[in-house]
Amino acid sequence: MQRQQDMQDLLFSDQIVAVLVPVFVDQTYSYRVPSHLVPTGGLQPGILVRVPLGSRSLLGVVWDDEAVLKDAARLKDVEAVFAEFVLDEKGRQFVDWIASYTLAQRGMVLRMVLRGEEALQPDKPIKAIRLSAAPPERLTKARMRILSVMEDGQARSRKNVMDEAGVSQAAIDGLIKAGTLSLHDLAPPAVFAPPVANFAPPVLSDSQQEAADAIGACFATGGFQGILLDGVTGSGKTEVYFEAVARCLEKGQQALILVPEIALTNAFLERFAKRFGARPAEWHSDLSQKQKDRVWREVAKGRASVVVGARSALMLPFRDLGLIVVDEEHDGAFKQEDRVIYNARDMAMVRGHLSGFPVILASATPSVESRNNANLGRYQHIKLTSRYGGFAMPDIRLIDMRSDSPEKGRWLAPSLVAAINETLEAGEQSLLFLNRRGYAPLTLCRSCGHRFQCPSCSTWLVEHRSRKKLMCHHCGHSERVPPACPSCGTEDNLAACGPGVERIAEEVAERWPDKRIVILSSDLIHGVAQLRSELDVIASGEADIVIGTQLVAKGHNFPAMTLVGVIDADLGLAHGDLRAGEKVFQMLAQVTGRAGRMGGKGRGFLQTYASDHPVIQCLSKGDWEGFYVYEMEQRQKALMPPFGRLAALIISGEDREAALQYGRDLVRHVPQGAAVRVLGPVEAPLAVLRGRYRFRLLLWAERSFAVSPFLRHWLAGCASPKGSVRLQVDVDPVSFV
Ligand code: ADP
Ligand code: ZN
Repeated sequence: MQRQQDMQDLLFSDQIVAVLVPVFVDQTYSYRVPSHLVPTGGLQPGILVRVPLGSRSLLGVVWDDEAVLKDAARLKDVEAVFAEFVLDEKGRQFVDWIASYTLAQRGMVLRMVLRGEEALQPDKPIKAIRLSAAPPERLTKARMRILSVMEDGQARSRKNVMDEAGVSQAAIDGLIKAGTLSLHDLAPPAVFAPPVANFAPPVLSDSQQEAADAIGACFATGGFQGILLDGVTGSGKTEVYFEAVARCLEKGQQALILVPEIALTNAFLERFAKRFGARPAEWHSDLSQKQKDRVWREVAKGRASVVVGARSALMLPFRDLGLIVVDEEHDGAFKQEDRVIYNARDMAMVRGHLSGFPVILASATPSVESRNNANLGRYQHIKLTSRYGGFAMPDIRLIDMRSDSPEKGRWLAPSLVAAINETLEAGEQSLLFLNRRGYAPLTLCRSCGHRFQCPSCSTWLVEHRSRKKLMCHHCGHSERVPPACPSCGTEDNLAACGPGVERIAEEVAERWPDKRIVILSSDLIHGVAQLRSELDVIASGEADIVIGTQLVAKGHNFPAMTLVGVIDADLGLAHGDLRAGEKVFQMLAQVTGRAGRMGGKGRGFLQTYASDHPVIQCLSKGDWEGFYVYEMEQRQKALMPPFGRLAALIISGEDREAALQYGRDLVRHVPQGAAVRVLGPVEAPLAVLRGRYRFRLLLWAERSFAVSPFLRHWLAGCASPKGSVRLQVDVDPVSFV
């Protein structure tokens, strides 16, 4: 009876809410809301609150779940309410959707949305001084100087006046005390100046105009529409989707442009600023916590109207989102591979669908998935088939390495060397592309054949000669190159096998000692700022030969670049995964697409041992359409995505046997009767990572099969992994290592 009384008291006096907290759980927790914390209108779903959880206090969000009143006495109170910060209904549905699709805990998805409480605090006002009364009669020289600075009546910071007048702080404080100057709080300056839709619209080419009109029509109609903006490198896609951003701004809504992180260059941001009169808000991993807090807050308040960001920008708490553009949509960087395993490109579509706005996927080399969606009419397919300004697409030539082979110990074929010489003579830029960091991918002892392997991964160590180290590209382990072989003790007899970019740079420096050479590789670049300045150097033409990994492959405009040489076009073709051919095609079409974007005769050279391979053939003929036809045929035959569906289960553990056994247990519990196939467990290609043994299961199902509910049902019938064993679920896997 007493208990029922308690509950009634609670029900009638206090509100009880369900709160989702950003921790490793799927469920919400219920809290009582003390009446003095209830905002006008009630504590509605979406409002941010601080709640106790165990011994901690955490920021969470009032959720739509029904609050459960189990034990009134044990119900804890909400500690604080932040009524100005709301994750709107669509934002909450989005969190639920991602969790349900990826099988992640809802709390972990919410964790990608929320930041600490500091993000909720406004910027501090600036203290400023201003002239407020007549000066005292006796004036020192210092005071006179201060007054001559301040006589225009403007407010200034103390520091400013100290510098301008060349006086001490005491002199200023004296005048404040005398009442001549007064202290004020100035509102901090706006963090982001608003971009203006029609600040400086470009004159579009006819085909750009047509594309922009088609997108404009989507805005006029309203509602969700997937759009594939499919235009060759240099066709002017950016200007086209900027028009979409303009339409979105005109509606008073926020726009999000997702790009692979490395495409967030100065050149891009400045181009945006020229078009819209202000830089967009940026979101990427190189921002400080404080900068992130500000962007988060301004986005939540609706004061940042355009965000350009890496994949995690998708989770920002937009107040009124009206457009998402995913640029370079084919890029693997949109897939997050840890914690919540999701593809930001696909989830962007989901977001647009939930909220009812257009989502544009832009690429010169769309993913096979997106091309298929366009073919089926699920997306509107907008094509730009030629380069802006009438510039020609680069000529692609194959270099058959069997007949046109480099001298021993060298990596550039004679015909490529000749082409570089011609380019240098013309005063133009060359790019040599090799998607492999370091000096050499394998080091071995010439005497005993010992190969240097990572102690905690099943991979060879890569020599980085510039640092005098052998490094693991999977776990970051590094060791000094030893003077003698650790196995047989022979001194100075180690061989570097195969090239990385550093080795190509060595050859280039030997061949052209007086030319300006830039190497771009992520391990040689420290942070976004340095990358931006290196890219600016290349764009300004101050480099003759650029040697780079995929960092240089994408998106950039290098006006003087007319030659691209691919050192190893076959790299990646031999990978066993289903997208190996697609990835090679995309990478090489993109990197050769850097040549001749701004005029000049662009040329691309592909060094290959597999000149008959269909992917290499399509590239050499410039027959991109042919590639898609070929690739779709292959996938259709094998019923691979997008014509079938996959999910991967990755089991890892410190104990090999236990991990393998858990994989076998999972297979034993596959629900009977479902139209799925489960392959494995097999040892993963990367069989050991950071000291953990890895196994993979692959689930195949028909296109129309709902994979996520099936997985949930299956795993619910299995025991959780024990000890060090862990299970990761990857729906629609991109990586198969
Ligand atoms: P894409 O993203 O399709 O590879 P970009 O949008 O970067 O191509 O355009 C390629 C080049 O052409 C850029 O230097 C860009 O400034 C220029 N350009 C594109 N459209 C226009 C336009 N309408 N007016 C002036 N310059 C343009
Ligand atoms: Zn390692």
